[in-house]
Amino acid sequence: MAGRRLLILGGTGEAAALARALAQAGDWEVVTSLAGRTRAPTALPGAVRVGGFGGAGGLAAYLRAERIDRVIDATHPFAATISANAAAACAEAGVPLLRIERPAWMPVPGDRWIDVADAAAAADWLAGALPANSTVLLTLGRQEVAPFRRCPALRFVLRSIEPPAPEDLPPNCLLLSERGPFTLDGEHALIAQHGIRAVVAKNAGGDATAAKLAAAREAAIPVVMIRRPTLPSTPAVPDVAGALDWLGARPEMGSA
Ligand code: NAP
Repeated sequence: MAGRRLLILGGTGEAAALARALAQAGDWEVVTSLAGRTRAPTALPGAVRVGGFGGAGGLAAYLRAERIDRVIDATHPFAATISANAAAACAEAGVPLLRIERPAWMPVPGDRWIDVADAAAAADWLAGALPANSTVLLTLGRQEVAPFRRCPALRFVLRSIEPPAPEDLPPNCLLLSERGPFTLDGEHALIAQHGIRAVVAKNAGGDATAAKLAAAREAAIPVVMIRRPTLPSTPAVPDVAGALDWLGARPEMGSA
């Protein structure tokens, strides 16, 4: 198996953990692909390429040119376009594809979740449900904040890895540029410090950003939860260990 070439479609903690685990195993030559959205991405072992492929056709051409043997789609559950492109490109190039799909968060007793399809629907719900001058915590990417401009009576605290374009910001918006993981104590403190009355989140799943859900439950405030987009029905595993099994590579999992 030595020297076989694997493309990881990345941009997540799972993708980084997989690249690190495979660097220990040594069976696979790994290339991680990043979209290039983050200016200072986490350092990764193995080769890293940055930027789009030019759609499914471009990705299929890349797989052939680089003699890629397998692809793991470890992108974020909301990165629907690249996942669809991966499915189409791998089918076209005849390259086996596996997706790491972390389980979605599920509400537990005490949660008050408002299920919405997208950021625009979240903004509509907030505008109708909250009194003027309420403060809302947005835990979203920089490209998802523009719809909240339609809520000029509300105040926002936006926690995002990268700052959005100024023209996308709602009028009353405090920016926090932070990257998880976040602790329960920290989330409690944030809610108390800013008098947060609702949280807007995408159903990303995973542990790194789940503390806000427990903190919202304990503070008895609603979470406006943006549901996941529909992805192609690619074979999937829930975690890095499943991906290593699929690759026939099970190194010591100490750093994964
Ligand atoms: P997207 O909407 O699914 O993809 C848009 C385009 O960006 C794709 O068509 C592709 O361009 C390019 N692209 C996306 N991921 C790529 C990758 N790993 N390598 C090379 N090109 C990639 O993606 P997105 O939601 O903007 O997410 C972009 C990246 O950020 C992903 O890698 C994802 O894992 C990460 N991320 C996303 C979120 C989120 O909430 N969406 C959260 C955390 C991390 P071409 O068509 O030109 O190939």
